[in-house]
Amino acid sequence: MRLLVVEDEYRLSELISSRLKKEKYTVDVSLDGEEGIYNALSDIYDLIILDIMLPKVDGIEILKNIRKNNIKSKVIMLTAKSELDDKLLGFENGADDYITKPFHIDELVARINVQLRKSNSITNNTIEYGDIKLDLKKCNLINKNTNDEINIINKEFQLLEYFLNNPNQVLSKELIYDKVWGMENDIMSNNLEAYLSFIRKKLKLIDSKVNIKSVRNLGYKMEYKDEEIK
Ligand code: CA
Repeated sequence: MRLLVVEDEYRLSELISSRLKKEKYTVDVSLDGEEGIYNALSDIYDLIILDIMLPKVDGIEILKNIRKNNIKSKVIMLTAKSELDDKLLGFENGADDYITKPFHIDELVARINVQLRKSNSITNNTIEYGDIKLDLKKCNLINKNTNDEINIINKEFQLLEYFLNNPNQVLSKELIYDKVWGMENDIMSNNLEAYLSFIRKKLKLIDSKVNIKSVRNLGYKMEYKDEEIK
């Protein structure tokens, strides 16, 4: 899953992003409000951690724009103790949660997990679809019927996670690039094909009936075909 951290205190944003990367999230950082709003409106983030006091454009303004543009990213606001009123303002404008500075990084991680679990029905850090299960902590892809498993990391992991969160839907190449590679992607489309073929091989290796099909001129779709006659 892809997260955006909008926080102008460099050390804090580094702390948050390095911790979230350890939790296997993909993280982008914006150090001011202008870049923050540009990134937030790209609609590629599952969750945005949004500081209120920011140079150029403040967090409340960014939040208003996110919701005005119908962007469904979860938003957790960061507020200073002296900004109690800001919390209320945040909720009025569609924030999902807030955390008061100074906070313990574990608490932020816990709240992020709560928000993302709510929206994606992830239980016990796994995502399931068809006959497979992806362990988000261990980065293992598991066949639920046979318990065969295989390790899956980096871009393959991110791609698979994205498909698992959006099964039976055609996902365009552009959407996949934005979600997995981020805004500043300039990857040749061959790379996507290559990554997908690695994933398909791994699905075959654990005998899964889940497949990622290419849909001509439109993109790709994850499907589960249980061919057993019942
Ligand atoms: Ca700030």
